[in-house]
Amino acid sequence: MTTTSGSFDFVIVGGGIYGASLAHDLSHAGKSVLLLEAGEVADGASGGPGERGVRANGRDIRELPIVSVSLERWRQFQETIQGGVGYRRVGGLTIIDKPYGQREHEIRGVMEARAAVQTALGNPTQFLSRDETLAKEPELSPGILGALWCPNDGVGDHTFATQQFARQAEKLGAVVRRGVKVVEILHRNTAATGVKLADGEIVPVTGQLILTANAGTKALLAPVLRKDELTPVFNLMPQMMYVTNPEQRKVNHLLGHMHRRLAIKQLPDGTIMLSGGVSVTHDAEGRLEGSLSATAINLNDAIQTMPFIDRSKFVSVDASRADTVAVDNIPIVDKPANLTNTIYGYAWSGHGFAISLGFTHYITQWALSGEKPAELDPFTVRRFVDPSMTTNAVLDDLRRSFRAA
Ligand SMILES: Cc1cc2nc3c(=O)[nH]c(=O)nc-3n(C[C@H](O)[C@H](O)[C@H](O)COP(=O)(O)OP(=O)(O)OC[C@H]3O[C@@H](n4cnc5c(N)ncnc54)[C@H](O)[C@@H]3O)c2cc1C
Repeated sequence: MTTTSGSFDFVIVGGGIYGASLAHDLSHAGKSVLLLEAGEVADGASGGPGERGVRANGRDIRELPIVSVSLERWRQFQETIQGGVGYRRVGGLTIIDKPYGQREHEIRGVMEARAAVQTALGNPTQFLSRDETLAKEPELSPGILGALWCPNDGVGDHTFATQQFARQAEKLGAVVRRGVKVVEILHRNTAATGVKLADGEIVPVTGQLILTANAGTKALLAPVLRKDELTPVFNLMPQMMYVTNPEQRKVNHLLGHMHRRLAIKQLPDGTIMLSGGVSVTHDAEGRLEGSLSATAINLNDAIQTMPFIDRSKFVSVDASRADTVAVDNIPIVDKPANLTNTIYGYAWSGHGFAISLGFTHYITQWALSGEKPAELDPFTVRRFVDPSMTTNAVLDDLRRSFRAA
């Protein structure tokens, strides 16, 4: 058995967008960082074809203050990191039409209220009429009622961004080890003292440990969490589809939908990417299950929203990447009660890319100062045993922002 020499202020497990951007931020703050990745950087949910939506529109209210910080950081890093981070601020529309059984005034009421809250919590949002929406996005079905417009929303090349943050971290002195799978957290008293790799090597933790291994996090945490630290988290395999654009139509913005599970975007090469819909799963032998039915539902929703897609040809479908989802659909960011030098973050619930740079901003603050920023309170694991915490945090946020507005 070998032992890694050298000590680091931070050991980070998992080289997705969270691990890579944390390695960047902490190195930038002058700290020594070791990033351990089981495969290659961006091998998990932060990698793969196409682009990710980078949106505030339609988010859980508790995430809105953090996503506003994130969108601003995406804009800044796109300008300041050489070669950018693959971010395009194209603006986002959440389309509204009238689902069966609902009344137009109810839908309008909800959307106007949502626009007010999103704006108050740092994400400018405007309710657009049908004609205003069609002027921005002429290929939409004329049957729509309108849309919520977020000018700061956009899209990002997730694979490129993740690799860029890892490269920048290395330039700043971080050590990135690829092909090293962590299998166990070693600890004494109330601190992590090291991590054990699959080949038996022990990597010492002399400073702090950060777990951002997404689908690998639950297994690492399980032996160190107390019984009251519930992690009601499961894995999800979202489906992404790519179709041709034979008539050279334009999709100008990131498109979502109020009641259809749908995201439509146009990639820089003109291909139309459809995602955000029904997910698939793998059976015990690793075969995809439910892929064809998910394809049918997701395509139908896309065509109802943008009729020209019915004349496209199918290019490919991909459901190879897993994201972790919490039972209440918002992330978990916390410290294990028994390990005072360890922070973990996962359960990004299918929408963790957009908000990543906001979370890593606050996680970095927490790691450097030892003081947990109040912005992270709604994401504590304690919400599963003390629901009043979540409610109070949301109300406090709303009161604060309405006072400021
Ligand atoms: C198909 C799909 C579409 C999505 N679309 C959007 C979108 O449009 N907008 C949006 O905001 N979000 C979207 N998401 C969610 C977003 O991509 C994820 O929430 C985000 O990328 C998670 O980043 P991460 O760094 O936590 O995890 P990952 O990228 O999964 O990184 C974790 C890394 O840890 C490594 N690892 C795991 N276990 C170990 C171990 N034991 N030891 C060492 N390393 C380990 C893995 O190899 C992996 O590289 C989508 C996700 C998927 C899968």
